[in-house]
Amino acid sequence: TVGMVCLDDNHHMVAATSTSGLFMKRAGRVGDSPISGSGFYVDSEVGGASATGLGEDLMKGCISYEIVRLMKEGLHPQQACEQAVSRLDEQLKRRRQKAGDLSLIAMNNKGEWGVATNIEGFSFAVATETEAPEVYLVKFDE
Ligand code: ASP
Repeated sequence: TVGMVCLDDNHHMVAATSTSGLFMKRAGRVGDSPISGSGFYVDSEVGGASATGLGEDLMKGCISYEIVRLMKEGLHPQQACEQAVSRLDEQLKRRRQKAGDLSLIAMNNKGEWGVATNIEGFSFAVATETEAPEVYLVKFDE
């Protein structure tokens, strides 16, 4: 999955995902990526989020919406991503001892961004109008 959250000069925001879905998926499976609230969510007055990982688990948390909701409550995108990912990860592990891959990016309408994952390494890039894309690697912090 490729996901993005963008902000323009007029503080309009978009979020998007593009995916081939999971490897060896069943015909007809719909993952989280095309579902607003799960694979992506944006509200220009607050911010946006985009997800990748195991769609069946990401959907259980409506996680992109949850991150935007947390940002609306005043959390920085980094805190919102960490809180949403760790809560869903814990909830899934309580239910069935393991959680699927969950990786999220988010940005608020001030251009502040955050990222969180429950996998060993997740890479993402940040670009601005004036600066070339910078690639980062985030690691799961238990
Ligand atoms: N989230 C996608 C899905 O479950 C897969 C992915 O992110 O690679 O369809």
